Amino acid sequence: MSGFLADYTGAEIRVSPNFGPRRDGMRPDIIIMHYTGMQTGPSAEAWLCDPVSEVSSHYLVYEDGAIVQMVRESDRAWHAGRGTWRGRADINSSSIGIEVVNPGHSYGYPDFAPAQIDAVIALCRDITGRHSIVPERVLAHSDTAPGRKIDPGEKFPWAQLHAAGVGHYVDPSPIHGGRFLSVGERGEPVEALQSMLALYGYGVEITGTFDQTTEIVVAAFQRHFRPERVDGVADRSTIETLHRLLAALPPDVA
Ligand SMILES: [Zn+2]
Repeated sequence: MSGFLADYTGAEIRVSPNFGPRRDGMRPDIIIMHYTGMQTGPSAEAWLCDPVSEVSSHYLVYEDGAIVQMVRESDRAWHAGRGTWRGRADINSSSIGIEVVNPGHSYGYPDFAPAQIDAVIALCRDITGRHSIVPERVLAHSDTAPGRKIDPGEKFPWAQLHAAGVGHYVDPSPIHGGRFLSVGERGEPVEALQSMLALYGYGVEITGTFDQTTEIVVAAFQRHFRPERVDGVADRSTIETLHRLLAALPPDVA
């Protein structure tokens, strides 16, 4: 394919060969946010378009706000890999992937640039409008693949996106003392925590034991919704924030 018309009018086109059809007639109803995790934007763009990499994304957003579309929204880009949300696997078939240029935790993890975030917001508003994607399905890669991925990371400004009408968010409860749960604990409070995480969408089993997987999922939750401290410990602030987030879901979802 030599090219296609951009689905988003503000995007330049650079075609990636790394895509296929969405399976089982699935349509995009999730947006997955990533960071590129490479030293420069152009190197990430080249990698996402290199047949050898077998990865791609629908969009790439540069620091200055320039947007490149690499895969048509109607096609399945290869950005999410293994993962689940609300019990559903094959995230690639049901999502649109946005790679935000940032070298990530391996290279100092700088702040996201304001112009870049403005561009991400405009792009997301356009996509969610065209595909009727609900706010609570604008997610981090780390939400769907908590054991493998930590992007776009705790610096991604979810609160700012939410203020602009993108994504689901409540102001995190302040960190203070009080009872908390961590690895090794068992019992009803752990079961309740796992149930709330699973109800929100995270892939965690309800076992009543706070195991390593639970810790990883709690950290993923914090990275998105309580970014001030990402430690995998379900402190009171974490649990309260999760509780309020669930309460803020539309009734037909929760
Ligand atoms: Zn990612």
